[in-house]
Amino acid sequence: KLELRNIGHAFSHNQVLKNVNLEVRDGEFITILGPSGSGKSTIFNITGGMLEPSVGDVMLNGERINGCRGHVAYMPQSHSLMPWRTVLQNIELGREIKGQIDQARMEKLLERSGFEAIQNQYPDSLSGGMKQRVSFLRALNTPGELMLLDEPFSALDEITRIDMQEWLQEILTVEKRTVLMITHSIEEALKLSDRLVVLEGKPATIRQLFDVNGLDEQERVALKSQLLNM
Ligand code: ATP
Ligand code: MG
Repeated sequence: KLELRNIGHAFSHNQVLKNVNLEVRDGEFITILGPSGSGKSTIFNITGGMLEPSVGDVMLNGERINGCRGHVAYMPQSHSLMPWRTVLQNIELGREIKGQIDQARMEKLLERSGFEAIQNQYPDSLSGGMKQRVSFLRALNTPGELMLLDEPFSALDEITRIDMQEWLQEILTVEKRTVLMITHSIEEALKLSDRLVVLEGKPATIRQLFDVNGLDEQERVALKSQLLNM
């Protein structure tokens, strides 16, 4: 179980987050929605250990993991591919760091994505959407019970996006992972998540938590219009 306990964060005088509390069950898929600049990526950086919160604790299975990076597969918003490494080497990075190279998995990922053909190219030669998919592959290839996906499909065309969403769903039925995702697409949030949270206010906090699992079609439509009007 992941717990964000009373997280607050300020960048010098800019108070961004306040009293952020969230409990995520093992295997759950939670989406974070909220306006641009509200602090969503900051929550991810804190959860993934890249950033120490000004106050509060990140707890994983009862252990305090503030500032610890070892537990998550993180797909950052800016893809942060390494320009001096090929596509293949970038995807391998997820396991290399942890000393768990898995050739069979790698081949499956390349095959399913159709990226076998570009595996030896360098990121600079790829389009924005391709870079985003390489970054997604790297996250899929990174061990860790927790997966953080920061706007994973924002740069993709509709058809590729739906394909990637379905692929993610397939993977999650086989591998039990806990996922936190950030998106600006309410549609995407409703499609993929068990629950969703909305960041509100300045400094931002989680005021509302919505169950998505088990909603019928009519309730989904109602929730969608509620979210659109927030
Ligand atoms: P978007 O939807 O545009 O990605 P976001 O909700 O992810 O937005 P954050 O990137 O978390 O927003 O930024 C929240 C606030 O924190 C913004 O005011 C931003 O300027 C500030 N901020 C983020 N990172 C830093 C940093 N490294 N140094 C200083 N300020 C920062
Ligand atoms: Mg962001």
